[in-house]
Amino acid sequence: LLAQRLKAIQDLTKKEPIASVGQLNPKVDEIFEEDVFGDAQIKAKLHRSTYEHFRKSLDTGAPLSREVADQIATAMKDWAISKGATHFTHWFQPLNGLTAEKHDSFINFVGSTYNRSLNMNFSGGQLIQGEPDASSFPSGGIRSTFEARGYTAWDMSSPSFIRSSPQGKWLVIPTAFCSWTGEALDLKTPLLKSNEAISRSTVRLLNLIRKDNKTTSAASSLGVEQEFFCIDRGFFEARPDLQMTGRTLLGAKPARGQEMDDHYFGHMDKRILSFIQDCEWSLWKLGVPVTTRHNEVAPSQYEIAPIFENISVASDHNLLTMQVLIDKAKEHGLAVLFHEKPFEGVNGSGKHHNWSIGTNTGENMIDPGHSPLENVQFLLFLAATIRSVSLFGDLLRVSIASPANDFRLGANEAPPAIISVYVGDLLAKVIDELTTQDAEEKGVDPNAVPRGPSHLQLGVTALPAIPKDQSDRNRTSSFAFTGNKFEFRAAGSSASPARSSMVINTIVAESIETICDEIEASLNKGEELSSILHSVVVKTLKEHKRAVFNGNGYTQEWVEEAARRGLPNLRSAPDAIKELLAEKNIQLFERMKVLSRTELTAHQTIYYEEYVKTINIEARCLHNIVVTSVLPAALEYKKTLKDALDVDIPVQAEYLKNMNDLITKLLEHSNQLKSSVQDAEEKFDDEQLHEHSIFMRDVILNKAMVNVRSVCDQLEEIVDNKLWPVAKYSEILYRK
Ligand code: ADP
Ligand code: MG
Repeated sequence: LLAQRLKAIQDLTKKEPIASVGQLNPKVDEIFEEDVFGDAQIKAKLHRSTYEHFRKSLDTGAPLSREVADQIATAMKDWAISKGATHFTHWFQPLNGLTAEKHDSFINFVGSTYNRSLNMNFSGGQLIQGEPDASSFPSGGIRSTFEARGYTAWDMSSPSFIRSSPQGKWLVIPTAFCSWTGEALDLKTPLLKSNEAISRSTVRLLNLIRKDNKTTSAASSLGVEQEFFCIDRGFFEARPDLQMTGRTLLGAKPARGQEMDDHYFGHMDKRILSFIQDCEWSLWKLGVPVTTRHNEVAPSQYEIAPIFENISVASDHNLLTMQVLIDKAKEHGLAVLFHEKPFEGVNGSGKHHNWSIGTNTGENMIDPGHSPLENVQFLLFLAATIRSVSLFGDLLRVSIASPANDFRLGANEAPPAIISVYVGDLLAKVIDELTTQDAEEKGVDPNAVPRGPSHLQLGVTALPAIPKDQSDRNRTSSFAFTGNKFEFRAAGSSASPARSSMVINTIVAESIETICDEIEASLNKGEELSSILHSVVVKTLKEHKRAVFNGNGYTQEWVEEAARRGLPNLRSAPDAIKELLAEKNIQLFERMKVLSRTELTAHQTIYYEEYVKTINIEARCLHNIVVTSVLPAALEYKKTLKDALDVDIPVQAEYLKNMNDLITKLLEHSNQLKSSVQDAEEKFDDEQLHEHSIFMRDVILNKAMVNVRSVCDQLEEIVDNKLWPVAKYSEILYRK
């Protein structure tokens, strides 16, 4: 490791920014979607009736005829081959939040074994359905080994695309992944179902509140801000902990951290910039509309963000973006870290989910609008969203649960584990106005709602215009209204957006349905629509405004206030994961037809397994580095000290003793770590996942590993720099 560390430092002088393809062909409009085959390409390349059939199937879920599937498959194959593709793959998203693919070539033989000829073939059947061996993917117990089969089904709503290596190309077809018994084995299927729930509920509500509603479908939109660290690859390769666990398991804080506040939005390093530009060219070809790039708060931390899209496409595009970043980084001699907390003591990385609901008529339901009627509609959706967080904040918390994300939540760099909604001062006043009794009773506050009368009569009075940039940047809120969308900020940088997106969609859809039920019930009693809407908004807000919080989410006062309001504060992942199977949550997912009880049970099992396995790997990795690298370096340095120091001089004797003590402590703590890991392996069976994860958290992660690290980090500040085997924070974070 020491040799690698020193080589990494030496090699830095040779590293230059690499020219990207973009500089050879700098016309974005010409290359955008060059490597994509989706709706637009099917429309352009196939007969009108074929396209219409496809479109109908996409919009209504009607099955695709075999004939049309064959035609699309042939066109897709011809296009892919003309681009140089030799293989195709059904790309899917197993429950571990990663992506998976198995490649098959287009080659086929026609004729007999004796008289055969080569034929490049791809049928509608192969497009629509694939059958990878499901046995090696996490199923959380759904798939017993004797029924190991699962199948992938084409997701027509997400475009296919071409990926390449220096040796060739392959066609990637986004798919959903299910077991033969019908359960979803992936995150894509529930995401698509949750989007259907959003569509159903939104159309239902619009039918109730608009006289001649023209909206026939809706979907949520997602814009993902992706944070990441990017470091020199030499340092990455000199750190087995980064390679194996994604984070540094030891490392003393550098003299300079992020206290200078000079990195955020700062001038971008040329080497990094040229890497990101290279990624952008590739992503544009793949139809991913990346548009924003900038330095983030911590040294060596960056962010890129696309223009928002339909939530399932945006989710696929984020996963693709992460892959492109990882691959390209390697080409540029860099390494990208998506871990939520790769370095202790500097900010970690998140993945903000900007979320709204769009209709097929081009409207955004989360836009306050200008007229009283638009305002009512907006307030209904706002009330629904607030209600959903009030009742199901625990589910949002589960959706972001991982050992890595636990380091961020509540650490004054990300919203706390308490999930609340930030609405901004103006809307807060509106909510106040609506939910406080008659204006006469409470005494009119002339400043309550600027421009509007003090007593807000929905449908009659217009809300004051809510400027988009007025959505003050309250970074401490987990779920913030930002003008015409909500921004879910608690998600971690490495997580699949499908997880949180599916939950946001489902809980909001359920609230919209409930609001519809209430409106319908009152309509049946013959009440008048505008007063029904008024009272539904007021009632919902009254009951659920406990989820609204506009203050500083980083403070202890908020933790106490949230407890008084009865909002859950699920501090660690195991606490959160346990809540997934609360009866109210199972009923929610079943009612919204997104996940069954069996599937949810599987999700919970997988969350627990991931938690336990992650910490187990970290613990073993740390132990290994300590015993094989840190300890030998410490011992060698001790020998030097022993030879050089004069123990008759007290301060020198003290120095040696300190070194000796640290070595003793290191041995004791690393032995303790090892025996705790063994304990964990022996103590728990498959039925005790919760207990197991608590043990991993309390005994290993927060105790044994912390103790070991603390001694290592003290040693790092003493041992001769020439001998220290592990690349240092100051090198990794500041040298490019
Ligand atoms: P920020 O100031 O937080 O960076 P931006 O306005 O730049 O916010 O937007 C961040 C992300 O939100 C982008 O991906 C953007 O496309 C997306 N976004 C903007 N409007 C919407 C919307 N109505 N629905 C969903 N996402 C949106
Ligand atoms: Mg943002």
